[in-house]
Amino acid sequence: MAIFEGLSSRLQETFQRLRGKGKLTEDDVKEAMREVRLALLEADVNFKVVKQFVEKVRERAIGQEVLKSLTPGQQVIKIVNDELTELMGGTQSRIAQAAKPPTVVMMVGLQGAGKTTTTGKLANLLKKQNRYPLLVAGDIYRPAAIKQLQVLGEQVKTSVFSLGDQVSPVEIAKQAVEHAKMHGFDYVLIDTAGRLHVDEALMDELKQIRDAVQPEEILLVVDAMTGQDAVNVAENFHQQLGITGTILTKLDGDTRGGAALSIRAVTGTPVKFAGMGEKLDALEPFHPDRMASRILG
Ligand code: GDP
Repeated sequence: MAIFEGLSSRLQETFQRLRGKGKLTEDDVKEAMREVRLALLEADVNFKVVKQFVEKVRERAIGQEVLKSLTPGQQVIKIVNDELTELMGGTQSRIAQAAKPPTVVMMVGLQGAGKTTTTGKLANLLKKQNRYPLLVAGDIYRPAAIKQLQVLGEQVKTSVFSLGDQVSPVEIAKQAVEHAKMHGFDYVLIDTAGRLHVDEALMDELKQIRDAVQPEEILLVVDAMTGQDAVNVAENFHQQLGITGTILTKLDGDTRGGAALSIRAVTGTPVKFAGMGEKLDALEPFHPDRMASRILG
């Protein structure tokens, strides 16, 4: 995977040196932590996140048991692995399920992040798990968005609920949930409008939809290629709307991985899925432990 390539090779070099040393001193650990810090900053990880991370690893690594052990280098690597996993949320976060169906999921995000595509991919994933999702065309402003969702619906072989572009998105969302209840759909995936930047009108509309349908999930779709911008967007959406998780798209692209490593720590909400390509089946559950192993090689 290209995403963590740079970070991965930098860390491997550092750990190679640690392993080669046999017994470690506090200074060896400090030196290694300096290198880890630089490697993470170079991978575009949020600087506050880097600071806390390195401090935590350093504290654990200079603990007496580690330095006295027969394989201190290995132990330090294990600590970094544990803490990277923790940083990304520890365990895999599943999509919520309402006590009584349907489970309502609002898909939000900036234009171009991959929101509409990801909504289709999520329907595809749910169908594979024998769920019965209803796609809802709630982005009435971008001319092609409704059509795009309908095409995705055909590909996934799932129903798309649309009332055209003359009915308010709040009304569309409410009627869609009613439709889902009547027809036995167990998930309602609402595609909402994006903007180029976070703006008040957009947030107001999203809040109105949220209040009208009280979704179990508000998933923010963010483009991992935009690095720290993605993290800022997530922070902003979370403060204003209260998201329940993020979906990082374009992790198949040439991104250094900073967003993947920072977004959970900055927003306090987990990354739930990763978009790994343009195709409909290119959406994977996000596994923090597997990501950490990829980074450490
Ligand atoms: P929206 O404006 O947020 O609804 O964005 P779209 O769903 O229209 O997606 C914008 C572009 O990003 C499209 O060309 C998608 O094919 C592409 N895209 C979405 N997700 C991914 C992904 O995970 N990987 C790659 N490589 N492209 C993606």
